[in-house]
Parts: sequence; C-alpha cells; structure tokens
Amino acid sequence: KGCIINGKRIAEEIQNELKCSITEWLTKHPRKPSLVAVLVGEDPASVKYVEKKMEAAQSVGIDSRTENLPNTITESQLIGKINELNNDPAVDGILVQLPVPKHISERNICNAVDPLKDVDGFHFSNAGKLCLNMNAFVPCTVLAVIELIKRTGVETFGKHVVVCGRSKNIGLPLSILLHSDARNELPGLEATVTLCHRNTPPEQLEMFTKMADIVISATGVVHLIKGHMIKEGACVIDVGINRIQTPEGKVKLVGDVDFDSVVKVAKHVTPVPGGVGPVTVAMLMKNTYLAAINHFR
Ligand code: NAD
Repeated sequence: KGCIINGKRIAEEIQNELKCSITEWLTKHPRKPSLVAVLVGEDPASVKYVEKKMEAAQSVGIDSRTENLPNTITESQLIGKINELNNDPAVDGILVQLPVPKHISERNICNAVDPLKDVDGFHFSNAGKLCLNMNAFVPCTVLAVIELIKRTGVETFGKHVVVCGRSKNIGLPLSILLHSDARNELPGLEATVTLCHRNTPPEQLEMFTKMADIVISATGVVHLIKGHMIKEGACVIDVGINRIQTPEGKVKLVGDVDFDSVVKVAKHVTPVPGGVGPVTVAMLMKNTYLAAINHFR
C-alpha cells in the first residue's frame, strides 16, 4: 500500500523555514517583504484562493493586501492598476488572480506585471528565461510539484516522468524543468520526460504511464489516471482540482487521479485536497521573499 504524501505538512515545513529566513532578513532591512493580490470580480473559488494566500503571507511575516476590483473593469483600467503597483517601491510581489473576466486578455494582463514583481512567473520574459534555463520566477504550482518530489526523496536523475497537460502555466514549464540539466543556472531535474495532452490517444497514455517512474497529472480530467495505468512503486502527483457533485448534491473537490486504485500500486501519491495545493501557496511566499531580496539588492 502506497504512502500518501502530506502536502499540508510539507507546506507548513516550507513556511516555517521561510518564517525564520524572513525574521533574520528583517534585522537587516527596513520593511517586511510585501505582496499584493489583484482580484477581479467575486468568483467564490478565486476569493477562497486569495484568502488562503493572504493567510499564508501573514503567517510567514509577509505584508499583504488584496486589491478588489469590479467585474466590469476594462482591460486598460486593470493594466493601469497593475502599473500603479509596478511603480510602488513598497510592493515586492504582484499576483493577478486568474481567471480574469472574458472581455480581458489574460496574456496582456500577465505581460503587464513588472517581471521583477511577477511572483506567479507568468510574464513572457520569465517564461522565456525558464526555457533558456536562466534564473527566473517559476510558476508556483511548478515549484510545488518539484518541492514535493524532492522532499519525498524521489529520485529523478535518469528516471522517466510522464506529464499530463501542456498548459503554459503548469504542464509545459514543469516538463522543461524536469528534463533540464542540473548544472544550469536554473537547475533541472535530469529526467526523461514524456508530455501528454488532450490529443494523446488513451491507449498511448496508458502505455507511457505504465513505464513511468513518476506520473504528474495537470489536466482537470476527473479520474484520468487509474491504478492499472501505474507501474508498481511509482510516484504519482495530482495537480488537478475539479469540483464535482456528489449523489447527495454536495460539491466535492477531486483531482485527476483515481486515488483509491492508484494508492494500491504507487509507492507515493498526493491527495486532493491536501497535496499540491497548499505547497503551491507556500511557494508563492517563497517567490515573494525572493522578489523582496532582489528589490533590496
Ligand atoms: P488547462 O485547462 O490550461 O490545461 C489542461 C491540459 O490538460 C491541456 O494541456 C490539455 O491538453 C490536457 N488534457 C486534457 N485532457 C487530457 C487527456 N485526456 N489526457 C492528457 N491530457 C489532457 O489547465 P491548467 O491551468 O494547466 O490546470 C490543470 C489542472 O490543475 C486544473 O484542474 C486546475 O484546476 C489545476 N490547478 C491546480 C493548481 C494547484 O495549486 N494544485 C493550480 C492551478 C491549477
């Protein structure tokens, strides 16, 4: 029976380490690191995520606040707000909670954030640097997956990793870091990576996952990964967050992984909730601290 990776515990561990580093850093700097979340509209999931990020910031000693903006805001008004924050020397990190309303271009918004304050790592210059193995802000979910693998002690050097999902924010940057050279400025994990996506035929997906030492799913497809697709002793990381209706009419959070069947064959598996999610928040704190360090350097 597999071991369940405790994302909540790992997140606490990371946040405790950060809290110590920030306390020490504060003895030599005039103010706390600071983070501003920009929240457009009142989508309940987004409100919840931002709340969690603000709580985490508070607990590690990062100053944080949320800019609440109405759904009706125009793209240029939103970019104007982001520019204000870009120009504010008291702000180290800026995150625009996605998704933004449909009349606003997500790409334009991500590109409006000062790359040095881009703690989500979504600006094109950070994405480009990541591709070239240069130091950059890496998306927090990508960092979370890597941190979970490292802190669980799972070997990646020369191992075969299957990544499901090719999104620009998760699947693609994750596969780049996983396959890259560990000697790079931005160190890679030296794995062989197979990147699957919505047009990978299911029988091929199964063929690949059966060979994989590590399977990472970031698709939003409920129960895409089942126990019979997993090699005995593999590590399975579930990035998916899906809201489903239970027969009783309640809303339940599930991942991409059929946990009950996978836990019987895998050596390690992350649960949803309580896996990648909390660690993602912790990595946002880490990125904010890095932004503050850079600001005062
Ligand atoms: P996305 O919709 O941009 O991308 C989904 C990807 O899955 C696409 O590249 C698509 O090709 C691929 N896909 C779809 N069906 C597939 C299939 N049958 N087989 C293989 N690949 C398939 O989503 P995203 O932004 O990359 O997010 C992925 C998931 O991660 C979502 O469920 C999202 O809610 C979740 N998420 C989790 C966190 C976290 O912190 N845990 C953060 C952000 C997003």
